[in-house]
Amino acid sequence: MFQTWNSIALWKRVLAGLVVGLVVGLCLRYSLPAERSSTIADVWLRPWGDGFVRLIQMLVVPLIFTTLVSGVAAMGDPKKLGSLGSQTIALYLLTTVFAVSLGLAMGNLLRPGVGVDYSSASQSDVENVQDTLKIAESAGGIAQRLLAIIPSNPVQSLAQADVLQIIFFALLVGLGIVLTGRPAEPAKLFFDAAAEVVMRITLMVMELAPLGVMALMAWVMASKGVGVLYNLFWLAAALYLACAFQILVVYGLLLIKLTARLPMLAFFRGIVDVQGVAYSTSSSNATLPVSISCAEKNLGIDKSIAGSVLPLGATINMDGTSCYLGLIALFAAQATGIELSWSQYLGVALTATAASIGTAGIPSASLLLAASVLSVVGITHEQALIVIAFIFPFDRLLDMMRTLTNVTGDMACASVVAKWNGGLDEDVFRSANDT
Ligand code: ASP
Repeated sequence: MFQTWNSIALWKRVLAGLVVGLVVGLCLRYSLPAERSSTIADVWLRPWGDGFVRLIQMLVVPLIFTTLVSGVAAMGDPKKLGSLGSQTIALYLLTTVFAVSLGLAMGNLLRPGVGVDYSSASQSDVENVQDTLKIAESAGGIAQRLLAIIPSNPVQSLAQADVLQIIFFALLVGLGIVLTGRPAEPAKLFFDAAAEVVMRITLMVMELAPLGVMALMAWVMASKGVGVLYNLFWLAAALYLACAFQILVVYGLLLIKLTARLPMLAFFRGIVDVQGVAYSTSSSNATLPVSISCAEKNLGIDKSIAGSVLPLGATINMDGTSCYLGLIALFAAQATGIELSWSQYLGVALTATAASIGTAGIPSASLLLAASVLSVVGITHEQALIVIAFIFPFDRLLDMMRTLTNVTGDMACASVVAKWNGGLDEDVFRSANDT
């Protein structure tokens, strides 16, 4: 039986894990008193999910570092890196702008905030948010954040899993290998081999994805239920619809089909594992090893491109998040009875884009940046705290969808960049259709 299970394509097993987890979690939630189902979920389900997340998180730092160094060293030409970088950043920005506009359009169409009384947020939630915001705000202004990309001690960046600093350092090490030439050949071979080893471990861990995804889904559903459907129905509907549109039309149709001239179905088949892990973990960072391995193995993306474009995307390209931030601004404005002017719409779009770039790829990170977007529509800091605390208990179900969108965007942009730069094995990409 074990063999038969293992012979099924991984993406099908991940999907099965997702559905079983959803059903088990909902059965628990609605057949037992809420407190009991929450305790069972915390004691019996969560540890399995957390174990899986820890296993993939363990691989984030070694995988980014070794793949990026070996990828840049393999490129051979520093100029190529520059054009790859500018194409990637341009695509990331473009898709983010689409996403914010979609969020704002959907927010106007469904008007999720009308009639909502957010002042019912509990005092303890408000205090929690206040404490967490203080920590987030201590990160400093934009200049400091940019400077913080340069590591003062790369070993510390690795130890703290600071993705942008690791990218920065890995790029320089790769570049150093290229510029040094022959004497650096052993270093190049070392990083090539190390990248292969870490990738092999990633594939081993991925075999546990169906179980991990099932446990995480069951835990979320059993402990939180689908309460969001009652409390924030229109906000959830607007976010899920906008994200679905962004995924199918912007990524599937515009990027994959029309820009890269690749089959949409093969793309979506190739990234089911990534989407399953993103949806159940709510963390782009934790999904990164899965994204890199699927990009190489399922989509045929060259490792130098997968290893550079995807870590950058997991850190700065958050389309689901920017869409959500735009929506929250409208939600709060509608609930408070504020009508937005065109300049405020523009302000929201710009702030949401900037905030999404600064959002860390971890659960609920963007909610903590929502205050900056809310201030654009005239919501005071105190009111913003209450709005955030009101949404916070239900954020997980919203976060799942925006994280799924965030990683799908990274995979779509990586495919396009790979196609443009001759780094895509189309046979592998198209064969994702058959597995
Ligand atoms: N959880 C999201 C991610 O990891 C970030 C967010 O929108 O809160 O991509």
